[in-house]
Amino acid sequence: MTNDTHSANKHEPAPQNEAERGAGESGGKPQTIDIGINLMHRSFGSDREAVVEAALEAGVSPLIITGTSVRSSEAAAEYARRHSGRLYATAGVHPHDAKSCDARTIRKLSDLAAGGEVVAIGECGLDYNRDFSPREVQREWFVKQIELAEELELPLFLHERDAHEDFATILRRAKPPELPAVVHCFTGTAQELRTYLDMGLHIGITGWICDERRGKHLRDLVKIIPPERLMIETDAPFLTPRDLVPKPKDGRNEPKFLPHIAEAVAACTGRSAEAIMRETTETAKAFFRI
Ligand SMILES: [Zn+2]
Repeated sequence: MTNDTHSANKHEPAPQNEAERGAGESGGKPQTIDIGINLMHRSFGSDREAVVEAALEAGVSPLIITGTSVRSSEAAAEYARRHSGRLYATAGVHPHDAKSCDARTIRKLSDLAAGGEVVAIGECGLDYNRDFSPREVQREWFVKQIELAEELELPLFLHERDAHEDFATILRRAKPPELPAVVHCFTGTAQELRTYLDMGLHIGITGWICDERRGKHLRDLVKIIPPERLMIETDAPFLTPRDLVPKPKDGRNEPKFLPHIAEAVAACTGRSAEAIMRETTETAKAFFRI
């Protein structure tokens, strides 16, 4: 289905290694979960296995691959299935792609979500920053994916950009309060954050927080997120932390840089990076039930 299928099995570790590595602290380095990585993105097309290996070396595992369309969700689930315990996937349609949804979309996502490697519905939500899909179409498919998550009792992986009001309104109306949901890559205002926390939502923080200029407000805001609601993610290949030294030659973000984001969060909250990695991982395990 993708042009990467052929390369996937070559570097599979032996099962006992995998079990050991998955065991976290008992296997050596503690493992930190990257809850959002666009691993099926074409920029990982030639070295996807190496990216996963490098993440593992850096103590970043498991990775949760973000599904952004039916096609990428299928590819993510298939890839995750071949890396059991190390990779998981979400199944959903990004608001940018809402315009390509049709009568079969929800059925396809539902079939996909029957696999144990799919741990959430999404990413879904609203993006009024680019308006790649008409807003009413975005709203329609956002609601349908919330309903699917409810039906399947899977958590929601949410995307919101410049659409806070409509996004909160739809969630209040369509999402049962007990259904867990994370607003991934949160970059909004203090008031928006408080609203989301009051609504019981989890918050995903990316390398945006490492950006001296754009991420400045986030550095204060991250302090008010309770540990049991905070998770971290790279959103790779996007959002490369701007203060990485040395900068990656190709400018591409990778899951192996997640500890750098944990350090930035630690510096803001006055806790240690180890504590942030441990707490966000515990939160992610409980949230995604992995
Ligand atoms: Zn997103």
